[in-house]
Amino acid sequence: MGIERVEVYSVTLRYFEPFRIAPGSSEKSRNIVVRIVTDYGVEGWGEASPSKRVTGETVETVLEVLSRIAPRLIGMCPLRVEQNVEMMDRVVEGNPAAKAAIDTALHDILGKTAGKPLFMLLGGFRTQVLTDFTLSIKTPREMAADAVKAVEKGFRALKVKVGVNPSEDVERIRMVREAVGEGVEIRVDANEGWSPDQAVEVLNRVEKFRIRFVEQPVPAHDVKGLARVRRDSPIPVMADESVHSPSDALRLIREEAVDMINIKLAKSGGILKARKISDVAEAAGVSCMVGCMSESEIGIAAGAHLAAGVRNIEFADLDCDLLHADKLVKKGGVTVSGSMRLFPKGSGLGLEELDAEILGKPLAVYK
Ligand code: MN
Repeated sequence: MGIERVEVYSVTLRYFEPFRIAPGSSEKSRNIVVRIVTDYGVEGWGEASPSKRVTGETVETVLEVLSRIAPRLIGMCPLRVEQNVEMMDRVVEGNPAAKAAIDTALHDILGKTAGKPLFMLLGGFRTQVLTDFTLSIKTPREMAADAVKAVEKGFRALKVKVGVNPSEDVERIRMVREAVGEGVEIRVDANEGWSPDQAVEVLNRVEKFRIRFVEQPVPAHDVKGLARVRRDSPIPVMADESVHSPSDALRLIREEAVDMINIKLAKSGGILKARKISDVAEAAGVSCMVGCMSESEIGIAAGAHLAAGVRNIEFADLDCDLLHADKLVKKGGVTVSGSMRLFPKGSGLGLEELDAEILGKPLAVYK
């Protein structure tokens, strides 16, 4: 039982409208999709959604890293995930989005070989996952209107993107809360956009709007600043850009800089290491979220299976596929009903049919 072939595709997915967060705006996302084929008739899919700002990766670096890793996977047992991940780390340091594509495809194969949905093999703690819906940065009034639309669609949690201008950010949060009323959970994400002083000021001013947590209020490298915000903020602090690995998690916990951690497969290098981050966090009483970069339904399915499987992953921000006008997965995958991500009956990630036109021909085939 071995890996016979690795195919690498490039896909471009347009957003319905430009998506803006504190560091910048994007109109489309370019991702790399991987298909691993075994010699016993099972195949697995994975995806890399590289972020230059967060991990230094681009489509080009992902392709280059895969060209070094993929040939070494041929003939390997796909079920020995930890062995394969160790091989990837020996070949190249870092590059977690590229590695996440391979790790995800291996987990898809694991589930299909066992004949079970992946989340059952990852612990099976939940059978569905509540996701928030993300509000792209606009004027406070426009964001309040977007919030109402999302709640009308059934979303019970909203993530308000901020981090541009402290007093306008307070308005964004106030107007969204006033527009949706008390029954909706509001989370805030500043994407490194504030200084520690600004963060403490804004968070104290918005406390009365009942915010569940604030993500990455200050720059990723400023662990002392994060600890200071956590100490002086009435709202729990979640690290995102600051945590890529289990050792990052351990360091921030030691520095008393976090209440929660946002795990993303594109930062951790896939599901195996994401679980290790969650385990470190759990030991310290720190709960986790699974978030997304700009993945299609493939990466979102992987994140959702992980979030369902693991008890300590109490939150999910798995909505970026819903923001894309282009849909790579035509059948199967993780669906959405209101705020809930629901799993198909199929095994592994549960993907059934991909859009051949969006997928296109492979850029590279390793065998
Ligand atoms: Mn974030």
